Amino acid sequence: MYVATILKEKGSHVVTSGVNDSVRHVVRLLTEYRIGAAVVLDEGGGVAGIFSERDIVRGLREHGSRMLDLPVQALMTSEVVTCTLKDSITSVMELMTRRRFRHVPVVEDGALVGIISIGDVVKNRLAECTLEVDSLKEYVSTSR
Ligand code: AMP
Repeated sequence: MYVATILKEKGSHVVTSGVNDSVRHVVRLLTEYRIGAAVVLDEGGGVAGIFSERDIVRGLREHGSRMLDLPVQALMTSEVVTCTLKDSITSVMELMTRRRFRHVPVVEDGALVGIISIGDVVKNRLAECTLEVDSLKEYVSTSR
């Protein structure tokens, strides 16, 4: 199974913000869309960073509630690990486990075309496991 398969089902919409948007604005986006991270875009529309719930927690520890008025670029992670449509779900899952993050933006030719979250990966694995169990049950019952 590939990243493209998941995006075909869930769509390519990604919640984004600009580098100069305030943390307050991005927090509002995260709650409004009930998601854990937003991709931060530079003025040219390229991926400049990613900002997640973890960054809010770290920001609170470092700046207190003043962090809400900081531009998101002050707290985002700038070195974003991305994947492509052709990557396998297994490789994205390994990436998330090894690097300890739960979101991987999908980039093709420099353009943001989607995002894979750990929830998408778990949902996909669960569907695959169910399919495997069902076909094994079928195999066992027909070969008796
Ligand atoms: P998460 O587990 O996705 O909420 O993110 C945990 C930490 O990793 C936060 O500091 C994020 O900014 C950062 N992060 C999340 N996704 C990525 C990614 N794809 N590449 C680099 N850093 C990331």
